[in-house]
Amino acid sequence: MADLRQTRQGALLARLAAAGLDGLLVLSLANIRYLTGFTGSSALLLIRESGATLITDFRYATQAPREAGNAARVEIDRISTWDRLGKVVREAPNGVRLGFEAHIATVRDGERIVAIEQAEWEPVSDLVEQLRLVKDPGEVQAIRRAAEVAQAALNEVLREITAGQQELAVAALLEAALRRRGSEWHPFPTIVASGPRAALPHARTSERMIQAGELLLLDFGAQVDGYCADLTRTVVVGARADQRQRLVYDTVATAQRRALNGIRAGLTGREADSLAREVIVAAGFGEAFGHSLGHGLGLEVHEAPRVGPTGQTALPAGAVVTVEPGIYLPEWGGVRLEDDALVTGDGTELLSDNRVELVELV
Ligand code: ZN
Ligand code: ZN
Repeated sequence: MADLRQTRQGALLARLAAAGLDGLLVLSLANIRYLTGFTGSSALLLIRESGATLITDFRYATQAPREAGNAARVEIDRISTWDRLGKVVREAPNGVRLGFEAHIATVRDGERIVAIEQAEWEPVSDLVEQLRLVKDPGEVQAIRRAAEVAQAALNEVLREITAGQQELAVAALLEAALRRRGSEWHPFPTIVASGPRAALPHARTSERMIQAGELLLLDFGAQVDGYCADLTRTVVVGARADQRQRLVYDTVATAQRRALNGIRAGLTGREADSLAREVIVAAGFGEAFGHSLGHGLGLEVHEAPRVGPTGQTALPAGAVVTVEPGIYLPEWGGVRLEDDALVTGDGTELLSDNRVELVELV
């Protein structure tokens, strides 16, 4: 991946200057990774015109300078990273105006921040997230690779799924295959939901035994170079699909196809959502599609832009989104199909394989 960290920091500084700020205290670990490359679990990052300072603890004394390279000066504090932040800020002239990430800070963080009186602090939100919205080619490639890992793992595991297995056993097979194929971690808890449990859009994988003739919904992800893929497939286990299963499945697949064909830069998240929702409403299942069509995808599995009925802003070219319509019928089951796509000026480019022909595991 080309090293764009200085470019990203420069773009952030320009936005800060436009907001009358001399710098930003970055608290989000995803934002810290985006700006410096640091992948640890605890750090504070101060971005100023004079440079970036990454403050972390003893556990990362070797890792942090190695990962950050010349993208940030690293300070290790064995006792308190917050005390160290105070020292760093006090080295600057009094009255410096610094933003802090109000959407990430806890109330306790806020108390620690305003206690550093040398600076004038201002709560700001989503400045780095706005930069992350448009992916560069290296980021898109990482998401594509994550999707390839996820697809290969699923294809391997589909052959082994039979009626009589527990949902948890299927999740274990899938998670092992994901890890073996190179996923750094599971970006979210794997969902394996069978029969009536597939009607729960965010089901917790359980000890329930999969029965022949049931729908099985698998929602799972992979992570490569920090970037997430997020896929959902729904299959029928141990039998041919019945008429109702096929009807619901085809409706979801048609809705997804219409959205993938129709989404392009310039549509709002709401308009993108409508492309799929209209198909589902017309088929009489409008009440059974109760979530958004999708979400942005990147270093986090849920990030900007908003792709749902409340999405007011236009999707920019270069955003990566999921397209995941679903129909959930209580007591009966549910179908969701989810693929990942790059938004372009004239359409979408699939990053996952969109293999959504109905699979019957017989
Ligand atoms: Zn998902
Ligand atoms: Zn998703």
